[in-house]
Amino acid sequence: MIISTGTASGKSLAYLTPAVTSCLDGGTVLYLTPTKALAADQLRGLRELRITQLRAACFDGDTPFEERTWVRQHANYVLTNPDMLHRSILPRHAQWSSFFRRLRMVVVDECHGYRGVFGSHVAQILRRLRRVCARYGSQPVFLLASATASEPGAFAMRLTGLEMAEVTSDGSPKGATTIALWEPPLTELRGERGAPVRRTATAEAADLLTDLVLAKVRTLAFVRSRRGAETVALTARAKLADVAFSLAGTPIGGSSSTAFAPAGGNPGALPLSGGHAIPPGRDISPLPSAPHPGSPDHDVPMASRDHRPSLSSPTQDTHPAFSTPPPSDQGTAPPGADQGTLSWGASVPVSVPESESVPVSESVSESVSESVPVSVSESESADWADLPDRIAAYRAGYLAEDRRLLEKALRSGSIMGLATTNALELGVDVSGLDAVLIAGWPGTRASLWQQAGRAGRDGQEALAVLIARDDPLDTYLVHHPQALFGQPVEAIVLDPDNPYVLGPHLCAAAAEIPLTDADLPVFGPTTPNVLDDLVTEGLLRKRPAGWFWTRRERATDLADIRGGGGAPIQVVESATGRLLGSVDEPSAHTTVHTGAVYLHQGETYLVELLDLEAGVALVGGAEPDYTTFARDVTEISVLASLRSHDLGPGSLHFGEVEVTRQVVSYLKRRLQSGEMLGDEPLDLPPRTLRTRAVWWTLPASEVATLAEEGFDLGGAAHAAEHAAIGLLPLFATCDRWDIGGVSTELHADTGLLTVFVYDGHEGGAGFAERGYARATDWLTATREAIASCECERGCPSCIQSPKCGNGNEPLDKRGAIHLLDTLLRSASAAS
Ligand SMILES: [Zn+2]
Ligand SMILES: [Zn+2]
Repeated sequence: MIISTGTASGKSLAYLTPAVTSCLDGGTVLYLTPTKALAADQLRGLRELRITQLRAACFDGDTPFEERTWVRQHANYVLTNPDMLHRSILPRHAQWSSFFRRLRMVVVDECHGYRGVFGSHVAQILRRLRRVCARYGSQPVFLLASATASEPGAFAMRLTGLEMAEVTSDGSPKGATTIALWEPPLTELRGERGAPVRRTATAEAADLLTDLVLAKVRTLAFVRSRRGAETVALTARAKLADVAFSLAGTPIGGSSSTAFAPAGGNPGALPLSGGHAIPPGRDISPLPSAPHPGSPDHDVPMASRDHRPSLSSPTQDTHPAFSTPPPSDQGTAPPGADQGTLSWGASVPVSVPESESVPVSESVSESVSESVPVSVSESESADWADLPDRIAAYRAGYLAEDRRLLEKALRSGSIMGLATTNALELGVDVSGLDAVLIAGWPGTRASLWQQAGRAGRDGQEALAVLIARDDPLDTYLVHHPQALFGQPVEAIVLDPDNPYVLGPHLCAAAAEIPLTDADLPVFGPTTPNVLDDLVTEGLLRKRPAGWFWTRRERATDLADIRGGGGAPIQVVESATGRLLGSVDEPSAHTTVHTGAVYLHQGETYLVELLDLEAGVALVGGAEPDYTTFARDVTEISVLASLRSHDLGPGSLHFGEVEVTRQVVSYLKRRLQSGEMLGDEPLDLPPRTLRTRAVWWTLPASEVATLAEEGFDLGGAAHAAEHAAIGLLPLFATCDRWDIGGVSTELHADTGLLTVFVYDGHEGGAGFAERGYARATDWLTATREAIASCECERGCPSCIQSPKCGNGNEPLDKRGAIHLLDTLLRSASAAS
């Protein structure tokens, strides 16, 4: 069974009840989660139940050796991850025989994380698990928990190989959340080919964070990188300092602490318990609110778009000349001030009569009542001068005690605004927020709702704002709310039949228990062919009793379940020799080429050197003010069309292709403004990839008609390809870097105008297949994304792609709309 419902809808309770019951009945339970951190959280929850018969334990890379024997022999609720199952539990199944014999239930939690190539590996690991259970005579129930997705039952069946019942209705009570979709304006800046540049999502996020904190709305801003999160926090702090300054007419400023720092680092920088304690008993008065975006006549001198402080030296105090006066009880703002009067607190000398003290008081109190509902308690009272210190940045990797400290600060209100990477998805409980800002589409609806779900305390109403980045998917979403609020269209996609995934797991399975003919259906329809190949390669030996692993090395080493196959490139910090991670070789060309800005757990690094021969990328911590995008040129040839059907006057295909890709340069774009800083050439060898693709063609007659109307057909196909790559993630849980495309006015293999979109992983990952299955919806959304962008001739929000190896040339925006209309008008007429 799969339960696919929203965040905090009670999924844990739904699987815990039968799971714990199984343990009380003498059975055992295996709980799988993608990360160790989640398993640790679950274990804490289980122990809090205080049921003596429940012997729960984690079994992962951190479990001490002496504990492992106890877990195998005595635990009846084992929490682990797919990696551990693959490398340790399944190969040593004999040591787990009493556990497997009594296994009643397998809980697969957060299973929406099992997508693409990683998901395909997990699917095969679960098949191996089923076979081992059968060996010990058990047939456990598989209970899966997932975020909302399209067709969860079909996904669960692909993941487990079992028939699945689905539970999708969510009856949990929730306060209403207002979701705002926010599109930043086009600016006067010009990018590639003179295209207009949209204001960045991070710049807009900083404005909104400032406004919300001024309105005393506790706000969390999600930003992709740690550097981006810090920039948002710094910008908002500077704006708040400016606001306080202009309202006070007297120098005040924030402290120089810039981020929530871990205790192990620099505890002195913690803005949580610094010297800005609020004097006890200080009265609180109505708080100013953000100006309405649509009321330019609002006269509160708040952060506004044209009021941007310079951030030339972001680690410095933005007003180094100002000092923060120490809080004292000598303030002139009277306790018990009437509504409509601002209380300055101690640090601002106010010498005018109360009624005139703040000229904006009227409009302030109005805007409070009109706009954001503000609830202020005594404990939240703050001085204007303190406001900058109430914004912090947070990132992954903090110790548990730092996280608890942060939770406390958020709950008490000593932090009102927090900018973070998605690190919060792991292990911090930040209940009690009023608003969430999401800078850029977080990739999936599951992530969006997870992040938006952070807002709303005690069933109160909440606000979530999705701020669009300049890419076609974000553009489409802010113009088409029904794609977010209607039935989910994004499915969790994987391809367990990928031979590059299946082969290593067949070897591992044979090493566990020799494979017999009876096992073949468990591993899918392509198994006989893949087995033949493995025998030819000398990896497996065929005997009358079945297929055997007879080699000395460990079969499980053949499968790199978190990687994309191929010898990985190690990413090493040059100063310390620390291994940060690994990237599979084809991806290395695009993500860790020399000069690339590399993000690792929200931290920013600059790649000093990519040495393909040594299999190493040397990186150094850096704070560049730009991002990089690798650009490649691609050729594609069709090996086999596996499925096809008519699409309007053209036809649609899904099949096997060979892609030759060469990264030729990289684009640098300024982080804050999105401006183009240049295109740097790279010297990397071409890579060949056998994978799967979806492609469509148009017959020559239709093409001739469009040409007569004056459209540049190459440019039109190219523009449609870029936008289609941008929109596929709406239907398949991939991101635009997992897929690639090729378009041509005349392709050698089809003899026609053809647009290809292919999976960027060896053997395919299921993304192109999903595009084939949902082609009409996908191409309709592509057409809409192009048409909804207000630019004249194309920009990064619609048809320009930052990874285009041809420098976004040629592109024909109107031509692309007509091309897609031709394909789709007839398609809908025909169906
Ligand atoms: Zn545009
Ligand atoms: Zn291109």
